[in-house]
Amino acid sequence: MNALIDCHTHIHQYNENEHKEIIKRALSAKVKIIVSAGTNINDSKKALLVSERNENVFAGIGIHPTELKKFEKDELNNLTKFSNHNKVICISEIGLDFQNDKTDKNLQIKAFISQIDIANKNNLPVIFHIREKNDSFDGWDARKIGIEILKENLMVKGVAHYFQGDWKYAKKLIDLGIYISFAKPIIRIKELEEIVKKIPNDMFVVETDSYPQTFKKNRNKWTEPYHLQQIIKRISQLRKTNIEKISESSRRNSMEIFNNHKNQLEKILYK
Ligand SMILES: [Zn+2]
Repeated sequence: MNALIDCHTHIHQYNENEHKEIIKRALSAKVKIIVSAGTNINDSKKALLVSERNENVFAGIGIHPTELKKFEKDELNNLTKFSNHNKVICISEIGLDFQNDKTDKNLQIKAFISQIDIANKNNLPVIFHIREKNDSFDGWDARKIGIEILKENLMVKGVAHYFQGDWKYAKKLIDLGIYISFAKPIIRIKELEEIVKKIPNDMFVVETDSYPQTFKKNRNKWTEPYHLQQIIKRISQLRKTNIEKISESSRRNSMEIFNNHKNQLEKILYK
């Protein structure tokens, strides 16, 4: 298998004494670059620190829609400051989350647009999250608004992370030039097979969204970046293409997205 990039995780949220081992297991599964995304200001700072200490880790910064309390000058200034750091390669995790009414929708919309703006100004890709009420597979409340926001505001590359939804939704994103990021759901959700089969070769990437899954009693069952291999295998089965080609496409697409940091990433990928 070719060297892989895990485009979206939160591995900095794991206990610090676990980081080295997680990276070691990832490397033994050919996962050479791990993007760890912050979910609020403090968490983004933590992602940054972990990326500074581990050459295979790069950071995403942003405020997740469910973590929003406000989005004012303070938040804007902090994120703008972080975005200049040489290990920050994307604005993430940001987006819309209408699963419950935890955060005011107008605040979510305002923060999403403002953070896309930071990405535009700093030429960083946006890796975003859009979820529907009651986690509906084919709902359109958040999707409709999300697509409008992206269409109006996004001037950099975009990635729909942890994609779950039908082909109609995927197609709308692809038509906007937005990449689809496949994660573990493609292994268990039958409806996603169509998207995996139909997506053009140059429009998908892969991720594990790893974070400490304390709700699972058995630590060995927690998702980690080394699980990326399972996702690549599933894509290759569904597309009837060999694993080498799938891993190469996903890596090449990731490099397109993170093009701004190409030299830095290649140094690690081909080490
Ligand atoms: Zn995430």
